[in-house]
Amino acid sequence: MGNMNTSPPAVVFSDFDGTITQEETFSLLMREFAPEASERMVPRLLSGEVTLRDGVPAVLETISSSVFPAMEKRMEEAPLRAGFEEFLNTLDRLGIPLVVLSGSIEPLIMAALRPYRNRIARIVAAKVDLSGPFLKITSPYADRDELVYKPGILLSFDVPTRIVVGDSVTDFSMARMGDIVFARSLLARKLQEEGRDYRPFETFFEISNYLELNKKTFKESRR
Ligand SMILES: [Mg+2]
Repeated sequence: MGNMNTSPPAVVFSDFDGTITQEETFSLLMREFAPEASERMVPRLLSGEVTLRDGVPAVLETISSSVFPAMEKRMEEAPLRAGFEEFLNTLDRLGIPLVVLSGSIEPLIMAALRPYRNRIARIVAAKVDLSGPFLKITSPYADRDELVYKPGILLSFDVPTRIVVGDSVTDFSMARMGDIVFARSLLARKLQEEGRDYRPFETFFEISNYLELNKKTFKESRR
């Protein structure tokens, strides 16, 4: 897969952390590799005093470049949510590309998804420069308060049906643009509060089943 030229009937835009992975790997990693900066910054991030766009690089850039391989190693071992491989099979069968959008950093996501890399159309995330003594974070997709502004990426795809999968409030703005939304955890709660339509999920089996059962309807839908 990975060929977007044949105008697919739909595209799945999925968050990575806590969505494809079973746990919030990024915050676990920050706490493990930058415990002091995390302790200082996390409450300020949660209170909204500091944006993700500023706060995440502030924590990561205290980490020595030499330990990055150990971070990648951790990610290789990160458990993925049940049914992910079967979900990729379903998407292949239906001709639907998967785009992974994340505020985490690209090589860490690559490490976790390495066995599936050629089955994912695109991974969009922040980038890391390891040439200096400490990590240096850059993001061509930074906008508003976000390190990776997901709605902007969604809008750059002209497809009849946008399927969004996510788990946290940082996925809310892209969920608002989805034709079909699968949500768990805080995202599900937020969508419920706002009275928006979504389908709850805990495993990718549920999403696969829904897509198989409804493939005809979303193939015909037009924005
Ligand atoms: Mg997430």
